[in-house]
Amino acid sequence: MSAQLTFVAPRRAKPSRHLADLSMAERRAAVAELGEKPFRADQLSRHYFERFTTDPEQMTDLPAASRDRLVTQLMPGLLTSVREITCDGGMTRKTLWRLFDGALVESVLMRYPDRVTMCVSSQAGCGMNCPFCATGQAGLTRNMSTAEIVEQVVAGARALAADEVPGGPGRVSNIVFMGMGEPLANYKAVIGAVRRIVEPAPAGLGISARGVTVSTVGLVPAIDKLAAEGLPVTLAVSLHAPDDELRDTLVPVNTRWKVAEVLDAAWRYAAVTKRRVSIEYALIKDINDQEWRADLLGRLLKGKLVHVNLIPLNPTPGSKWTASRPEDERAFVRRLESHGVAVTVRDTRGREIDGACGQLAAATPEQG
Ligand code: SF4
Repeated sequence: MSAQLTFVAPRRAKPSRHLADLSMAERRAAVAELGEKPFRADQLSRHYFERFTTDPEQMTDLPAASRDRLVTQLMPGLLTSVREITCDGGMTRKTLWRLFDGALVESVLMRYPDRVTMCVSSQAGCGMNCPFCATGQAGLTRNMSTAEIVEQVVAGARALAADEVPGGPGRVSNIVFMGMGEPLANYKAVIGAVRRIVEPAPAGLGISARGVTVSTVGLVPAIDKLAAEGLPVTLAVSLHAPDDELRDTLVPVNTRWKVAEVLDAAWRYAAVTKRRVSIEYALIKDINDQEWRADLLGRLLKGKLVHVNLIPLNPTPGSKWTASRPEDERAFVRRLESHGVAVTVRDTRGREIDGACGQLAAATPEQG
């Protein structure tokens, strides 16, 4: 009788190390450990952050004998495209990515006449449990690494540089951390990613910090930490309700940090960075779109360095939460403006391609 043995490869706990996880000094040390001259790290970094290439064949300034090893060791593939959907004549492109362990995340590239914005994920899933959000319903799978976050931007930059997005070759100008996840719950990796995004080549992509927006549901200690980083990124607070009673149910972390505490942290952030804080407010029909709530919000924000982004909710299939009526949306805007608060209704790019966070991953059965 012969026993059948099945060999199960040990599951890697972490994504492979990538140069985007490392500072320039760390990259030089890593290259030296591989027996190469430290300046090879600069060359390798320029291929990645300036030319967006990971193809050893194209790295003709590196010795042919070293290229494959350097790329394998410091530029492992981190994201595999599972599905790509475009709309708006190709100007909006949403990609569902599979990570090394099968976790799914998504990023969206949006091209406008004057800018290209990329919306990136910072976690696979999300642990914040907001009841109106598809990602929140699925829970947190895991934190993404710095390089996994950065790779989403590099993929977009590569597509733009290669003229794959209608409108001619272009560059990414804005990054919003508004894909899957609560960025400040994955603080270290997100700050690493922001640094890679803003540092000029060869260290990073050289995108202006003013074009970077980090969103949060209101993790107060992390907001204060972010203010002290010396990175003038825009802070976006997903408020969604001006009163604790409702916010406790819409954004459960509110039971830990109340509206007043979150807004105080936002004003401290504005004072330190001199950056206008963005208040995100998903308008949900008959839930948080009453005029009295607009008035309450207006009173809380009046006179502050703030801008309100109203987001017509993109309903999740089968969900009771849906977008406000147009007349209620207009009334909400008017009430806020009557308090002198700057407000815009966010354009709902990508709506017809499951634009709300988490929906593309939620609709894909092939996880794992
Ligand atoms: S709305 Fe944002 S913070 Fe809330 S569960 Fe969804 S992804 Fe997480």
